[in-house]
Amino acid sequence: MNWLTNFVRPKLRALVARKEAPENLWLKCPNCEQMLFHRDLEANQQVCNQCNHHLRIKPAARLSQLFDDGKYETHALPRTVLDPLKFRDRKRYTDRLKEAQAENGANAEALVVASGKLGGYQAVVSVCDFAFMGGSMGIAVGEGLLMAAGLAIDNQAPLIVFSASGGARMQEAILSLMQMPRTTIAVQRVKEAGLPYIVVLTDPTTGGVTASFAMLGDIHIAEPGALIGFSGQRVIQDTIRETLPPGFQRAEYQFDHGMVDMIVHRHKMRDTLIRLVNLLLKRPAEEDLPAAA
Ligand SMILES: [Zn+2]
Repeated sequence: MNWLTNFVRPKLRALVARKEAPENLWLKCPNCEQMLFHRDLEANQQVCNQCNHHLRIKPAARLSQLFDDGKYETHALPRTVLDPLKFRDRKRYTDRLKEAQAENGANAEALVVASGKLGGYQAVVSVCDFAFMGGSMGIAVGEGLLMAAGLAIDNQAPLIVFSASGGARMQEAILSLMQMPRTTIAVQRVKEAGLPYIVVLTDPTTGGVTASFAMLGDIHIAEPGALIGFSGQRVIQDTIRETLPPGFQRAEYQFDHGMVDMIVHRHKMRDTLIRLVNLLLKRPAEEDLPAAA
């Protein structure tokens, strides 16, 4: 033992150790590559304060920003058959589900259904979770959307959906594709009940979700810069053998081509939705109603 090992080495180690900041405190903006502090991001609703890029956001954060006083109730999705096809690729589908639930919470799925007050109106809000297996639509998501539609009808409330999905869940093959007509019918039921159905297209909305409930809104709102399309850019480019225009399939491109009605900054989403619900329901918010005698 000497002075170097006993004194200098621990000091050096301490110096090095101190520099190892926890990884999740800083996040690099995927657009401008600025390092963003997690608390600043949280305070700014996951929008980059340098370039205004809208980062992906978890359903819980989205819902608490949306509802009055951040208060809402979540509804458990109906229980469905897990892994009906006993599917296995490199891993078992059941193992993939378990992993996704370990990361996103027990009983989590790619859709969250919530209800609460929005500007005084009772509203049902469904949010896709891209972090859960790419927001893919399987039986559970389909059932969840059916339940959300039923809740909206029972409560005479508008249905608002925040879409984010890579498409159908391939591990459920044809059963996942069957959710497209099912969710389409669910949306139709909401419309037949004379209730508003509003879709907020968030990054990314693609595949079977675009081809079903995400493109059936009375009004389509998109978040700035969101990727919205059916098949991917590379697939289209290879099929039609033409170079696609810049900004292809982005919210702004879809807005210019009439697929999206409005592009709304996340900070203005709540106010915009309240305004639209108010216009579409043509009735005063419940708190404005005269008290019953
Ligand atoms: Zn940025």
